[in-house]
Amino acid sequence: MTTDVDAPGLVADILIPGGHGRAVEVSAGQVIEIIDVEGGQVAEPVAFSARHRHEWMSATHTRSSTMRLNLGVGDVLVSNFRRPMYEITHDDVGIHDLVTAMCDERRYVLDYQVEGHRSCRTNFLEELEPYGIEEWEIPDTINFFQNAPIAADRSFGNVLPIGKPGDRLKLLVLMDSIFALSACPQDLNPCNSFNPTPIRVRVWA
Ligand SMILES: [Zn+2]
Repeated sequence: MTTDVDAPGLVADILIPGGHGRAVEVSAGQVIEIIDVEGGQVAEPVAFSARHRHEWMSATHTRSSTMRLNLGVGDVLVSNFRRPMYEITHDDVGIHDLVTAMCDERRYVLDYQVEGHRSCRTNFLEELEPYGIEEWEIPDTINFFQNAPIAADRSFGNVLPIGKPGDRLKLLVLMDSIFALSACPQDLNPCNSFNPTPIRVRVWA
């Protein structure tokens, strides 16, 4: 993690290499800025309440609250206790996924016959280990910038993301929390344009 205090109000400035993850502690009132540096890259967060680890950001409860399978400005990402954790205040991309599971080592073995591939799940394991969070505790991600189009018959796809270089999403923090983000390492299907690239995270006071 790198922290840059050159800009007024900038609390943290983290460049996550493509295929890796990072975690940062955030406080209510701060703003998290997530930047698709080169474009075409998915950014997958999980988050836990700073007060107790039994409360986490829930994709299921968020889509049940918004009644949509996409996200946009004004949407509130809620916890498994249906409490507000983050509000989207800016969104350059407009296409996100609330359906698909994060990648894990088993996915690469089962579907691609590749052993030991980096995965979002191992990224979170590495980054959340200092907080005492174990693998079974890692919840579903919300998949920013992922393009999983929903067909009329309710099947869904997995196609190239539409994010352009420098596109960003901003979250107003509504709950003190641990926010972990994975720049998904999937390079064997279109979800990261077959080429995982960096995601920059800035936290503003
Ligand atoms: Zn992934």
